[in-house]
Amino acid sequence: MNTTIGQGRVRELAHVTAGMQASDGDGVRMTRIIGTPELNMLDPFLLLDAFGSDRPQDYIGGFPSHPHRGFETVTYLLAGRMRHKDNAGNEGVIEPGGVQWMTAGRGIVHSEMPEQENGLLKGFQLWVNLPARAKMTAPGYQEYPPAGVPLERREDGTQVRVVAGTTSEGTVGAVKNDWVRPTYLDVTLPAGRDFGQAVGAGDNTFLYVIEGDLVVGEDEKALGRAKLGILGPGERVQVSTSAGARFLLVSAQPLNEPVARGGPFVMNTREEIVQAFEDYRHNRF
Ligand code: MN
Repeated sequence: MNTTIGQGRVRELAHVTAGMQASDGDGVRMTRIIGTPELNMLDPFLLLDAFGSDRPQDYIGGFPSHPHRGFETVTYLLAGRMRHKDNAGNEGVIEPGGVQWMTAGRGIVHSEMPEQENGLLKGFQLWVNLPARAKMTAPGYQEYPPAGVPLERREDGTQVRVVAGTTSEGTVGAVKNDWVRPTYLDVTLPAGRDFGQAVGAGDNTFLYVIEGDLVVGEDEKALGRAKLGILGPGERVQVSTSAGARFLLVSAQPLNEPVARGGPFVMNTREEIVQAFEDYRHNRF
């Protein structure tokens, strides 16, 4: 415990939230963790939903055809299968450990539907904002099957699935980002082990505990299962676990630009939101 890994100030746990129960799409039940009254955003992250249920009525409706503009949606699955289809001609099924990174840009219409009628469906959707200069960029789509997401196996048994960014041991993530370049790691930490990761000094950084529990920073504050912890300033994330844990580590430089939200559109001004609704209504997506 409390081994200092690498250089720089260690980030301490600054705020913890469990999010709130929410329903979206066609009656999909989920926990909204970012994008709530408590945590409206963590720049550049606009929304984080965690879904996880083995009751088909909680997910079977899926997310039928709907538009987005002005940001990116990142879907990462832990269990089950989801089919994505969009009006730019992209289609694919995401499987456990697979990721879909969609750049909505100036506009995309897509559906996200469970590719199963029963069993467990579990995963996350993160919304990553785009800078003003890229909000009207051409839509893009990246999809990586589980085998396409690099898996770093450390000597102490720690496993890191590198969705995006680069680990402190040099493993480079699957996703290629032109705009915001987040680090997105899925870390499985065996009992009694430490984990360290360098992050940008100006980054906003959060941890989300999928299983087990974590001890965070030099203050050794506890972060329990299904909790999101926002980290304070520093250049390093340092955590440990007594009984073992699986968690997400997500980090990026904030955009520090005005944010105007309107349902599935996120722009910089109200006028741009009104324009987005009008463009969608007139089939300009
Ligand atoms: Mn969507």
